[in-house]
Amino acid sequence: MAEWPLPPSSTIGILGGGQLGRMLAAAASRLGLKVHIFCPEANAPAFDVAARATIASYSDLSAISEFAEAVDVVTFEFENIPAAALQHIENIRRVLPSARSLAVSQDRLSEKKLFDHLSLPVAPFAEVASIETLELAVANIGRPAILKTRRLGYDGKGQVKIDDATDLAHAFAAIGSATAVLDTFVPFTSEISILTVRSADGEIRAYDPVENAHENQMLAESRVPARIPVSIAESTPEIARKIVTELDHVGMLAVEMFYCMDDTENPLLINEIAPRVHNSGHWTLDACLVSQFENHIRAVAGWPLGSVRRHCDCVMVNLTGEDANRWPQLAADDSIALHLYGKEEPRQRRKMGHFTRLSRKT
Ligand code: AMP
Repeated sequence: MAEWPLPPSSTIGILGGGQLGRMLAAAASRLGLKVHIFCPEANAPAFDVAARATIASYSDLSAISEFAEAVDVVTFEFENIPAAALQHIENIRRVLPSARSLAVSQDRLSEKKLFDHLSLPVAPFAEVASIETLELAVANIGRPAILKTRRLGYDGKGQVKIDDATDLAHAFAAIGSATAVLDTFVPFTSEISILTVRSADGEIRAYDPVENAHENQMLAESRVPARIPVSIAESTPEIARKIVTELDHVGMLAVEMFYCMDDTENPLLINEIAPRVHNSGHWTLDACLVSQFENHIRAVAGWPLGSVRRHCDCVMVNLTGEDANRWPQLAADDSIALHLYGKEEPRQRRKMGHFTRLSRKT
C-alpha cells in the first residue's frame, strides 16, 4: 500500500493522454510528483510531459495491470473509461475519483436522477428506449426538445434537436436508435459552470462560477466573473457541494448549468456533470493561485487543497483547428497567456490550445 498522502516523487497514473492529461502532468511536476500516462494513441499530447507512458488499449488487461502496479494512485482525464478496465485497476490500486462518480457521469439518465434525488433544479426530462417511448416523451415534454444518447455523447455528439417539423423516426435513427434521454429545450440566457474540488478528507472548495459561450455545441469562450446576479453566483457552491458529497467524490468536478434570466423560480437548471478537470476551468491556470489541475492532483494525492481565489478577471478562448496557426501573433500579445497542446494536425474542431486574456479584478 502506498504511503498516504503520497509524498513528492510518488507517481500518479492517469488514464487518457489528451490536453487535460498534459496539464495535469505539468501541475503534478510543479509539486514534485510524477505521472504515468496510459493512452491508446501514440503521440498523445500528455506524453511530452510525462515521466512514463504506456500505449495500449483499455481492453488490454495485462497492460492495465502492469500500469496499475507501476503507480501509486490512478485518476482519469475523461469519463468514458470502460468499466472492465476500471474494475481491474481497482483490484490493484486506489482509483480517485471513485467508480460511482464515473458511473453516474457516464449515463445522462443516472445524472438527471441524481439531480432529482438531491432536489436540485433540472428541466423536465424523459427516458427513451424505443420509438414508442420517444413519441410518448415528446407528447409529455413538448417541442422543441433535445434527444441525447444516454452514453458516450459529448460536445454535441449523440444528440439531435426535435423541432416542430422533426420526424421522430428520423431523429431516433440519427442517434443510432440508442437508449436516450429527451431533454426540454431550455431557452437559456447563458451557460454557467461551477468547478469544485473535494479532498480525500472531505474538504470542498469552489472556484468562481464561469460563463461559457459555445459554438457548434463546443466550448468557445469562458468568462469570469460570469454576468449573473451576485445572489445567483453565491448559490452555486451549494449546488456543487451537494453533488460531490453525495458521490463521495475526490478530485475536481464540473457542473454545467443553464442560466435563465426570466425564470424567477429556477434561474439555474443543471445540464450535466463531468467528474474531472474541465475545459471551462482552464482560466484557473492564469487567474488563480492554484489551478484546477493542481487541485485535482492535490486531492487524488491526499494533499490539502490549494487556494481557489481568483486574482484577476479573465476570458479564456479555445483555439481549435487552424486557429492555432495564429500562434506568432498570440505569442506577441502581452495581455494574454498562451497555451498550446503540442498537437501536430490542426483538424477542424480539434482543440489545439487556448489563451487567457487577463484584466484587473472588478
Ligand atoms: P451537452 O452535450 O449536454 O453539454 O450539450 C452541448 C451543448 O448543447 C450545451 O452546452 C448547450 O449549448 C446545448 N444544449 C444541450 N442541452 C440543451 C438543452 N436542453 N436546451 C438548450 N440547449 C442545450
